[in-house]
Amino acid sequence: MSPSADQPVKKIQAIRGMNDLLPDASPRWQFLEARVRDLMARYGFAEIRTPIVEQTALFARSIGEVTDIVEKEMYTFDDRNGDSLTLRPEGTASCVRAAMQHGLLHNQTQRLWYQGPMFRHERPQKGRYRQFHQVGVETYGLDGPDIDAEVILLSARLWQELGLAEHVTLELNSLGSAEARAAYRDTLTAYFEQHGEVLDDDSRRRLTTNPLRILDSKNPEMAEVIAGAPQLIDHLDEASREHFERLKALLEAAGIGYVVNPRLVRGLDYYSRTVFEWTTDALGSQGTICAGGRYDGLVEQLGGKPTPAVGFAMGIERLVLLLETLDLVPAEALGGCDAYLVPMDDASTPEALALAESLRTALPGLNLTLHCGGGSFKSRMKKADKSGAPLAILLGEDERADQAVTLKFLRDDREQQRVAQSGLADTLASLTEHPRHNT
Ligand code: ATP
Ligand code: MG
Repeated sequence: MSPSADQPVKKIQAIRGMNDLLPDASPRWQFLEARVRDLMARYGFAEIRTPIVEQTALFARSIGEVTDIVEKEMYTFDDRNGDSLTLRPEGTASCVRAAMQHGLLHNQTQRLWYQGPMFRHERPQKGRYRQFHQVGVETYGLDGPDIDAEVILLSARLWQELGLAEHVTLELNSLGSAEARAAYRDTLTAYFEQHGEVLDDDSRRRLTTNPLRILDSKNPEMAEVIAGAPQLIDHLDEASREHFERLKALLEAAGIGYVVNPRLVRGLDYYSRTVFEWTTDALGSQGTICAGGRYDGLVEQLGGKPTPAVGFAMGIERLVLLLETLDLVPAEALGGCDAYLVPMDDASTPEALALAESLRTALPGLNLTLHCGGGSFKSRMKKADKSGAPLAILLGEDERADQAVTLKFLRDDREQQRVAQSGLADTLASLTEHPRHNT
């Protein structure tokens, strides 16, 4: 049925919690992404890209059946042949799957990083979305606390270089070995059973399936009973305790401050030993910007050989919000147009195109917009002004006859200036402080 006058076409909107990144905001993302990319190379990490869709079983088996993500947050659907597929809710499981599938874990160590969108069906709010983006690192084959310290130092350097260092806190804990956790689990179950009356529905269910998850509850009414619970850190096995002590000593030697948070358990099942989060007070309740830890059992759990592993993921939306809130994106990073080239009439268009190209060759750092779309001279100048450029380069019949252009200063009170086309690149280089290409 075709739409009629009394039945207007309903405009299609983006899905709730899934955001467009608009041109005004994208320079801030690009700034952060460029810093991250550079940092990863400096630490010897190589990028890995995996598909956004995986078999559902990959996430169910790795993240854990009894976790918020697997129980209620995954975007799962049937493929046309009936296979159950899931949009990735996080990056670690896919990274392990790919590393195993391609033999990257065979007699070698790996230091990998990734970035991209993740999907979780959560309640959208500031700092929490249904499609969000993470940058993560994963290392394989290294079991000592030195690599734990190295990935933490990498993240700390990023905060330092972004100007965030004084706004973030490192929280640290150790979950010990699987055996130590199993013993602690019984202690914890006994404790929560004594407080059955204050447990919410989720927690009561988890009491039998996964009592550690109760510690991760965000329900404020549970805060008190959780605060009083016995602590895993007091039930660590000897080897894990020593690993944790050595990590803390390495961080102290490197000058990285931290707080041990015995209640930090993380929302995913695959962690063992070290877990950590970087948090900030500047974002309200969505204050964790980066989280990770060791997951020595995961590769084996997914059918590979035992392989020690440690990594983290940071939330890009939260980081961009933080940079915005604290006004830490440098003005240069916001880009913008340096000059707007205006052919004053249609006859000047071919020469304007050629001039623009020669300027872009001579000045690779110059952001030059060529006026397109014709219009009256007045409307062309309006567009020049709207471009935000400090400078308009005008090319009309007179200028063409002289092999020259007219420079018009759009932001300061300064006389316009006639410049020969042959000297224009040099003039622009000094006006915009962009170096000339060396020929
Ligand atoms: P939270 O406790 O905030 O739910 P989480 O423990 O579920 O976080 P991880 O799975 O460890 O988070 O993901 C690592 C980081 O990714 C988080 O610290 C956060 O910065 C970011 N993140 C996680 N979920 C979301 C989301 N729904 N929207 C935006 N960022 C997110
Ligand atoms: Mg979560």
